[in-house]
Amino acid sequence: MADQSAKLRKLGIEREDGLVLHLPLRYEDLTRVTPIRELRAGELAQVEGEVVRSEVSGRGRRTLVVELRDASATLTLRFFHFYPSQRAQLAPGNRVRAWGEPRGGLFGTEIVHPQIRVVRPGEPLPQRLTPVYPAAAGIGQAWLRAAVRRALDVADWDDAVPAACSAALGLMAPLAALRLLHEPPAGADLESLQQRTPPAWQRVIFDELLAQQLSLRRAREERAARSARPLANTALADRLRAALPFTLTGAQQRVWREIGAELAANRPMNRLLQGDVGSGKTVVAALAASQAIGSGAQAALMAPTEILAEQHLVKLRPWLERVGARVAWLASSLKQAEKRKVRAAVAAGEVDLLVGTHALIEQSVEFERLGLAIVDEQHRFGVAQRLALRAKSDEQPHQLMMSATPIPRTLAMSYYADLDVSVIDELPPGRRPVVTKLLAESRRDELVGRVRAAVASGRQAYWVCPLVEESEALDLQNAIDTRSRLSQELAPLSVGLVHGRLSGADKQSVMEQFTRGAIDVLVATTVIEVGVDVSNASLMVIEHAERFGLAQLHQLRGRVGRGVDDSVCVLMYRAPLSDTARERLRVMYETTDGFEIARRDLALRGPGEFLGARQSGVPLLRFADLERDAALVDAARDCAQRLMREDPQAAHRHLQRWLAGREAYIGA
Ligand code: ADP
Ligand code: MG
Repeated sequence: MADQSAKLRKLGIEREDGLVLHLPLRYEDLTRVTPIRELRAGELAQVEGEVVRSEVSGRGRRTLVVELRDASATLTLRFFHFYPSQRAQLAPGNRVRAWGEPRGGLFGTEIVHPQIRVVRPGEPLPQRLTPVYPAAAGIGQAWLRAAVRRALDVADWDDAVPAACSAALGLMAPLAALRLLHEPPAGADLESLQQRTPPAWQRVIFDELLAQQLSLRRAREERAARSARPLANTALADRLRAALPFTLTGAQQRVWREIGAELAANRPMNRLLQGDVGSGKTVVAALAASQAIGSGAQAALMAPTEILAEQHLVKLRPWLERVGARVAWLASSLKQAEKRKVRAAVAAGEVDLLVGTHALIEQSVEFERLGLAIVDEQHRFGVAQRLALRAKSDEQPHQLMMSATPIPRTLAMSYYADLDVSVIDELPPGRRPVVTKLLAESRRDELVGRVRAAVASGRQAYWVCPLVEESEALDLQNAIDTRSRLSQELAPLSVGLVHGRLSGADKQSVMEQFTRGAIDVLVATTVIEVGVDVSNASLMVIEHAERFGLAQLHQLRGRVGRGVDDSVCVLMYRAPLSDTARERLRVMYETTDGFEIARRDLALRGPGEFLGARQSGVPLLRFADLERDAALVDAARDCAQRLMREDPQAAHRHLQRWLAGREAYIGA
């Protein structure tokens, strides 16, 4: 059976009975025969008739043309490539069933490359729809159908759900539901199967959500049972707080109380700090780091891009060094020798806070006493990467994650049930709402005039360059071109440029000139996505706004609206827009509320990107849809609670079936 298990692994299946969850993509309805005369172009159908002509025509690339006749009419079957065996099956006089999509051809109705089967007259039709499975190279439908049928026979899946729950929800028995979905009876409603609304689907979706809830609870219990080093000395954090040039907002004070208390406890913190762009999460992270350091531990801060990480460094370093902490930087762009030096210092305990990118989680990085791991924009990391940072310590470090992308409720409930969440729901004083305008690229000249007018009245502006997919080099060239074009159009105004390839010092120098007003208009790649703070800049233009994601647009827009002037963000787009791009721009136009934007982003993109599932390659929910199935999420959560209490064995069996080795990812 080595061959069998190799094939299963290729499909991502660990156990033989796991195939029962390998559900069809769609079905073929071979339970019916349609008279040829009633075929409709574009509608898949099966016909049965006698071959009356079979010819190979054409030189070079040969075509097999077959004429099939039933009592109502004749039909052409056309094969642009074919095997000798097919040609033999389609010999005149043979009775054949053909399945495919009819279309109107020059010489009447035809089907190109139908599936065919020779039949005896009167041969009975199948009683069930034929499943079409997600396949992989070297794994055909015939093999899958047989293997699934076997798996359904051997699977010994009792109902793990307490009878009280399944009765209340009217749930089908699990195997009956799966059997039905693999091979629905003739006459089943394909449309509703596709929508996943029939009871059989509800059962499967419920079971998947239940497995997720169970594993989250288990992760939480396991974490609660582990101990962590308490980081209770607040002296350093108190000093840092006193040295800040501003007082914390009420919301910052509240979340800092929550986080500070948890760090002081002997159980590992696992907390997500949410706050809209500019709400001041970094200060809270700095306080957390200083409490860890003041208590004798090391801290690490990991951000998904070098630019982001660097901005944290620029902000955190002066704060923390002022209170005597040693801060170091690690990113893949460092020279080998420098990296080695930093790693040695970290391992020797001579660094208190290490800031960087995923260079931090490379094998070779060892901490002497990591007590706190801070992960910024956590959803942009793969789950495996987050686990790797946590594993950098023999003891369980406390973990603080930060996100400016608020997580909608259903998502939080189902994916982050193991996380405690703190929310900064208040912006520092003095922020003003930003007016958003949409403008077609054809009106660019007008816009340039508006930028000039803004500068004439003493303001400054950002001009954000379009993203060029997958190419940093093109992004850069684009930015350089945009800058020189704007320099001409706006002369004699001063137009600066900042992008990711500038050295830290050059970047800082450009930003410094912009901050003191020596640069009027700053052309930028998405470098300014975060952390830049120039209150006199009250106009932002985003070129090719249709290429940006919602979270990115929201982050960018958050750079204006920080001063006393009314701010404007112009989203310039190039028509024609795709439906999704149009919808994204609409969302940006209609709201500035980060939570609302996140909710609509979820509806547009699905949960994968919020969770980093895409990067890690682990499909977390295969069947459930958190928007559509929100009610089942609630039910599954209640049921999980009950099951853990009343029948832990059944809970375990259920998890084994559904997760088969992927548990570690769920609670990350
Ligand atoms: P976030 O990371 O949440 O987007 P930051 O931590 O970068 O936000 O803070 C945005 C800006 O606001 C920074 O310049 C920061 O110094 C400033 N800031 C943070 N907290 C306050 C506060 N309580 N009062 C005034 N300014 C603040
Ligand atoms: Mg930030």
